Amino acid sequence: MPFDLASRLAERRAAHLYRQRPLLDSPQAPDVTVDGQPLLAFCSNDYLGLANHPEVIRALREGAEQWGVGGGASHLVIGHSTPHHQLEEALAEFTGRPRALLFSTGYMANLAAVTALVGQGDTVLEDRLNHASLLDAGLLSGARFSRYLHNDATSLASRLEKATGNTLVVTDGVFSMDGDLADLPALSAAAKRKGAWLMVDDAHGFGPLGANGGGIVEHFGLGIDEVPVLVGTLGKAFGTAGAFVAGSEELIETLIQFARPYIYTTSQPPAVACATLKSLELLRTESWRREHLNQLIARFRQGASEIGLRLMDSPTPIQPILVGDSARALQLTALLKARGLLVGAIRPPTVPAGSARLRVTLSAAHSEAQLERLLEALAECWPLLENGDA
Ligand SMILES: *Cc1c(COP(=O)(O)O)cnc(C)c1O
Repeated sequence: MPFDLASRLAERRAAHLYRQRPLLDSPQAPDVTVDGQPLLAFCSNDYLGLANHPEVIRALREGAEQWGVGGGASHLVIGHSTPHHQLEEALAEFTGRPRALLFSTGYMANLAAVTALVGQGDTVLEDRLNHASLLDAGLLSGARFSRYLHNDATSLASRLEKATGNTLVVTDGVFSMDGDLADLPALSAAAKRKGAWLMVDDAHGFGPLGANGGGIVEHFGLGIDEVPVLVGTLGKAFGTAGAFVAGSEELIETLIQFARPYIYTTSQPPAVACATLKSLELLRTESWRREHLNQLIARFRQGASEIGLRLMDSPTPIQPILVGDSARALQLTALLKARGLLVGAIRPPTVPAGSARLRVTLSAAHSEAQLERLLEALAECWPLLENGDA
């Protein structure tokens, strides 16, 4: 029978992979209302607590009053307005790159950059744990596409030996489901030896990492020579929406001329750019947010290891608890939810088979007391799960 959707859905349910959308009925914050229930959440990407910040809200409101709501057209027609342009200049200055280009989403920025840079006859090499948008971009590009072992510069180097045409090496900066950092010094050295370009998607590094929140490139002190294509997203630590690609004058002009996900879409509302200009200022200057976040990360790791949880090698606000089996991961989230805590279970195909996990994310908006509540609940729930009597 064609389009037997009912069977596909039933199979997914039977495999414990069925996804549901929790309905958020409050602003993004540690204390939320979800499906009518008040919960303490550890699952947003609002790492610095800027998504609901009064000054960012005011910038959005004032931006709407001055610039209206809709972008109105694509950037190349008449949708490129002054706030978009100012934000691009501010992001270029922030990243220490000659130019930056604004996109409506990170997914689109990644599709745009990869497909504009490589095509048939070229090569794209990606970390096997890269974000789905990067993997999709590699496939869509039509270039020879190959995945190297996770964060392994040796595995990359052996694939670089066989590369043809222009070669783009693509990696997450902070891996979104594991929280670990890409070994950029080694990856960039391997790429440079073969004349390949390195593209880094630092969706989760901008904000939490670097003395000024400049992300993984600031953390490692890498410039445009090491990382010619730098992507950041604005819906995570920036607390707003959109994304950017930063790089050379020629790179940005190439994207404006050739990147279809840039050309054939309406610009984001200019007021959102006004809000991001404000959140960029807060992200750079309010370093207490990063310091508090780092204290929470250290305390969580210490507390979790005392409970005997399996953590990953992550110095970032992404702190996954490895469970393994999808059904057990769901069981653990249900136990936590019954205690008023919301943590997301991440299952295949988002992560490799057998590596289901709880993806705990921490935010500067969390208090120490809230973190202790999480640790206490985990201490209670984890043994229930291990004994299988929950
Ligand atoms: C979230 C994310 C994206 C997508 O960004 P959006 O703006 O949400 O579309 C891209 N790359 C990585 C690594 C991400 O985590």
